[in-house]
Amino acid sequence: MKRITILGSTGSIGRSALEVVSKHSDGFKVVGLTAKGSVDVLLRQIREFKPEAVAVYDRTAAKELRKHTRVPVFDGEDGVCRVASHESSDFVLSAIVGFAGLLPTLSAIRAGKTVGLANKESLVVAGEMVMGEARKKKVRILPVDSEHSAVFQCLEGRGASALKRIILTASGGPFLGKGRRELADVSPEDALKHPNWSMGRKITVDSATLMNKGFEVMEAHHLFGIGPGSIDVLIHPQSILHCIVEFTDGSSIAHLSVPDMKAPIAYALSYPERLNGVIPRLDLSKVGTLTFKPPDLEGFPCLSYAYEALKEGGTVPAVLNAANETAVEAFLAGEAGFNDIPAIIKETMDSHVKSGIDGIESVKEADRWARKKAGEVIRRIGGGKKR
Ligand code: NAD
Ligand code: MG
Repeated sequence: MKRITILGSTGSIGRSALEVVSKHSDGFKVVGLTAKGSVDVLLRQIREFKPEAVAVYDRTAAKELRKHTRVPVFDGEDGVCRVASHESSDFVLSAIVGFAGLLPTLSAIRAGKTVGLANKESLVVAGEMVMGEARKKKVRILPVDSEHSAVFQCLEGRGASALKRIILTASGGPFLGKGRRELADVSPEDALKHPNWSMGRKITVDSATLMNKGFEVMEAHHLFGIGPGSIDVLIHPQSILHCIVEFTDGSSIAHLSVPDMKAPIAYALSYPERLNGVIPRLDLSKVGTLTFKPPDLEGFPCLSYAYEALKEGGTVPAVLNAANETAVEAFLAGEAGFNDIPAIIKETMDSHVKSGIDGIESVKEADRWARKKAGEVIRRIGGGKKR
């Protein structure tokens, strides 16, 4: 019986993970759950899974939750970190969205838990620190992002010395094929209509701008120790083939499945075993055609900014991430256009004076600085007007 904690249990990944757990309840016991607020959803999850502890980031929501349950409810970032390091869990699924996932992920690692990592932003902003802590604590980080789970499965048992190149595939999102001019007027509703994957709002917008794929390049670098020059991206609108791993002898191994996050979530949860019947089987005779083409970096420059930030290192990746989070929030609130997202990120990155990362404080400081700077850019270019 694996004893698991789910950080971000009310989100898209968190709910899919609990679906997997409830279908395989003989293999898993839920020890901890955490969320930002969402008292009603959390309460239903508490009643069904009977965790030993929960945490709610929002203190008012935590107070409300306490009125309805006897399970200990911790609050604030400290409370989330406390549940992330709860003594009786073996496995922590890190599925909080954004920068907010960093400290809880580090807490789980420092407490020696195996981590199933969905929160890619923690590797984007502090990849060296996170992987360094994991090495120090001899903690395994199991990728949950579908492409990285795919790479992990292709690599298993093969030494990194035989690895030549990783190709991550991207659906291209809802705006595939559109040029900059057409992108100028797309709405948040359009951006939230992802053709193949059902995900939280922030990552869905990141997929539409290709920033998500940029983050995944950075994530792959940290997870698999491969340089940015050896990580490529291919647009594959069918989202059936999730990665290609090329070896030094010229041969490649690819990973295929129907697009369903339950597969990589279940693989991280059950590793090194596989669970039965997690997702529908793939019928290639029905899919028919798989197509591939290079990404359009002119229409979707966020992907290039991620490569740039990865090559620069230091505080630049944290600045990239914070500027993106701020820009995406503004876009979703109708305070910035779709093409403003890359413009806000670029201006914030260009005005940043890079420094080294010498601890969590320097990451937090870069994050704070970039949010403030990006906010100024948004006010200037948007004039604070609702579109
Ligand atoms: P989501 O928005 O659906 O859920 C986010 C979860 O985080 C919620 O439970 C929310 O309550 C919690 N949360 C938000 N802010 C918080 C805070 N300040 N403190 C504590 N908890 C907080 O997001 P999602 O789509 O499930 O994505 C979660 C993570 O997984 C992201 O990093 C995303 O990039 C990654 N990911 C998601 C998918 C997917 O299919 N959804 C695929 C690959 C990777
Ligand atoms: Mg992915």
